[in-house]
Amino acid sequence: MKRVTLSLLTLAAALSAGFFLTGCEKVKPYLETVKTALDRETEEEAAARKPLAEADIPPPPAPVKMEPVINKEARVSVLGYHDFTDGSSTNDMILNIDDFRSQLQAIKDSQLHVISMRQFLDWKQAKADIPAESILITIDDGWKATHTLAMGVLKEFGYPYTVFFYKNYVNVGGRSLTHDEIRELAANGATLSSHSVSHQNMSSRGGRSEADYDTWLRLELEESHRFLEANFGDTGAVVKTFAFPYGIYSDRALELAREFGYEACFTVNGKKTSWDTEDMEIGRYVVHGTTLANFDPALDFGGGSLTSAGRKLLAESRTETGEEQAPLVTVNPTPNSVLGNRLPLIEIDLSKLTGVDPASIILRVTGFGKVPHQFDNATGLLTYQLPQRLRLDTCGVQLTFRHAGSADNEVIGWTFQIDPIADYLSSDVTAPGKNDPLPADDNKAPAPESQSPTATPSL
Ligand SMILES: [Zn+2]
Repeated sequence: MKRVTLSLLTLAAALSAGFFLTGCEKVKPYLETVKTALDRETEEEAAARKPLAEADIPPPPAPVKMEPVINKEARVSVLGYHDFTDGSSTNDMILNIDDFRSQLQAIKDSQLHVISMRQFLDWKQAKADIPAESILITIDDGWKATHTLAMGVLKEFGYPYTVFFYKNYVNVGGRSLTHDEIRELAANGATLSSHSVSHQNMSSRGGRSEADYDTWLRLELEESHRFLEANFGDTGAVVKTFAFPYGIYSDRALELAREFGYEACFTVNGKKTSWDTEDMEIGRYVVHGTTLANFDPALDFGGGSLTSAGRKLLAESRTETGEEQAPLVTVNPTPNSVLGNRLPLIEIDLSKLTGVDPASIILRVTGFGKVPHQFDNATGLLTYQLPQRLRLDTCGVQLTFRHAGSADNEVIGWTFQIDPIADYLSSDVTAPGKNDPLPADDNKAPAPESQSPTATPSL
């Protein structure tokens, strides 16, 4: 303020002098003089104030509390596993460990991020951010193979995971885990969480009175967590989340879970989790040991899982001299196209790339998993004829391969759509005959198992 006042006084004085001495027509040159005078004064004032400023440095401002910026558009696929084997006797709940490794590799190749339970919860609670397309790995029940087989493979990839235990199947011999084994899991990337006490269907009163049902639900919900906290709380790996046995629950169970302070509860409803998904009913894709029907949709973020390199290969680009060049890789059906045919031939032209390694090629198609493609090394053309009608109206294709121009795996992914009406009209042409598990007139595309996995007693 003082400086402004001085400057104004100087300006007034200079202007007056200018008018008196030379008259109005000479104002302009005098304004130049004034400006110079102002500049000089400013410097002098600054010099005059400097010692004061140095002697009287104000305290630094109090740190502003930064609110984390949360990506509310991010989505998470939660995977649910159970038991593993290194043999061939797989079923819905028992997965071969090599298939498990391939699935983790597919997650890695898709450049999806695997987050821990704590990261997941912090994002849901708006405390920290996560990558836009993330995967959360969970394993239920506490089978011995979680320790003997899965732990090592997860460690190879450095992926965190959550194990849901039910109290009555901890340290009881057979194929249950000992306390020491659980501690080892905790020391190797596992979060420990609850899966009830007795692993019974929590939606059923089972002949109990309303009051007894409440008491029993509380025991299943609360004692399972207290047990983990009492035995493994010192590992720092116990997190207050709960997986409903068989994915089944009642409104009362949800209420009591919330009341007890569970940060999240998990079901077996295979769908993506959004930021605003109800915390007490988080869906999971239960991965079966015999089919990728649930795994593939979990990894399909609608073409969004393209790597930046993959996008570049499928898009027009500019050379170093600025000339526009056609995409290096072309595909059919083209990205985001709409087809009137549920039995398309997939074609990928890799002829513009040099040194494609045929052994490195992996082609995956939504609902079919890894498929047996044909690759002609001479023409660079890769093809795959769908053997069965596509059941979903959106189909995702993902190609992983290596070529001379890339140090790492190249991943290309895209989706195309099926127009159900056009498909109906052309069903004579597209009817696949005896290989088709669906009747030719069934164009409503019934929801596949992947969309609503039915709970089975071994969940
Ligand atoms: Zn279970």
